[in-house]
Amino acid sequence: MYALYRAVAMVKASREKVVNILSDSRSSLELLSNPRTGHPLAHAIRESTRNANAEGKEIRFYWLRAHVGTKGNERADELAKIAAQKADADYDYEKIPLSWVKSKIREETILKWQTRYDSSQTGAITKTFFPDAKKAYATIRKLKPTPVQTQIFTGHTGIAEYLHRFKLLQSPSCECDADKIESVWHIILECPRYEVARYDLEHKIETKLENQKMHEIMENPEKRVEFLSFAEKAFREATSRHRSMNRKRNEETPPTAPTSAPTQNPKRIPKTKLQHCARRQRKECYVAQKQQESLGYEQGSGTVHGRKHGKARNRLWKPMGKSSVSLSPGLANLINGSTSKTILKGKPLIR
Ligand SMILES: [Zn+2]
Repeated sequence: MYALYRAVAMVKASREKVVNILSDSRSSLELLSNPRTGHPLAHAIRESTRNANAEGKEIRFYWLRAHVGTKGNERADELAKIAAQKADADYDYEKIPLSWVKSKIREETILKWQTRYDSSQTGAITKTFFPDAKKAYATIRKLKPTPVQTQIFTGHTGIAEYLHRFKLLQSPSCECDADKIESVWHIILECPRYEVARYDLEHKIETKLENQKMHEIMENPEKRVEFLSFAEKAFREATSRHRSMNRKRNEETPPTAPTSAPTQNPKRIPKTKLQHCARRQRKECYVAQKQQESLGYEQGSGTVHGRKHGKARNRLWKPMGKSSVSLSPGLANLINGSTSKTILKGKPLIR
């Protein structure tokens, strides 16, 4: 591309009216003819061509096959080689495309990832499916794994071995045989419960299921689809067995008795009921409540506190423990609104 740029620049200094430029770089010529390209050199070449046209000059671009003995082309190759071998040569053009920088960064990142992946002691199951980080990156980007697939690739799934490891299940054994551990590989490679489905799969993908073949299967789009369909079905079945067992166990276990008896003291109103109040109002309310309690009243069924910032409203109080509280005759008369005056009025003491 830079060679084309220099060639066009030479036309400006030339007296020739028509100039033919021959290049063996098809990609550069295609880039030049693409009106949507963002390449700065392509834009510069176009501008120079327009200027040349304005001066009455014509520039034509041609593609020629490389390494077929065209004299000028061979000479250009020779000069390019000599220039490349000069270690101290100054660069005429040192800009590099952003896409190239991005791909280099990605390459470096994947290389570091691979090193860390290889040296880590964990992830044995994931490594069997994806031993190569670069290939894994390409596969996972296309695949967009489902939650069940992720569980299979990592081994973090509700099968007996995993549940047992976290003390969520008494035994890691498989349903098929008490001596067999229900692991990821047992389900995929050998459990007789999935034998028919496994046989069908092996027939379809023409590959025997083995640990060593897993990465090959994952890298092949057709085989991968078939394998994942089999694996997802098998794992859903295996994990649902434990889920249903767990549900059954919970149903059989009688509900546990409450650890402490409910409070018998009706005077006790938890402070939490008052938490929606503003601080000052809460204090007032609490004090008021205590005063009422000390007088032998408790909170009634009405709303004690308004929803809005603890505005005390609609306070309903009723005598506490009506049946158990014995009131003195004087106090009873006061509550009923009777006074010695009304008593005297209504009922003459002496007839
Ligand atoms: Zn089994």
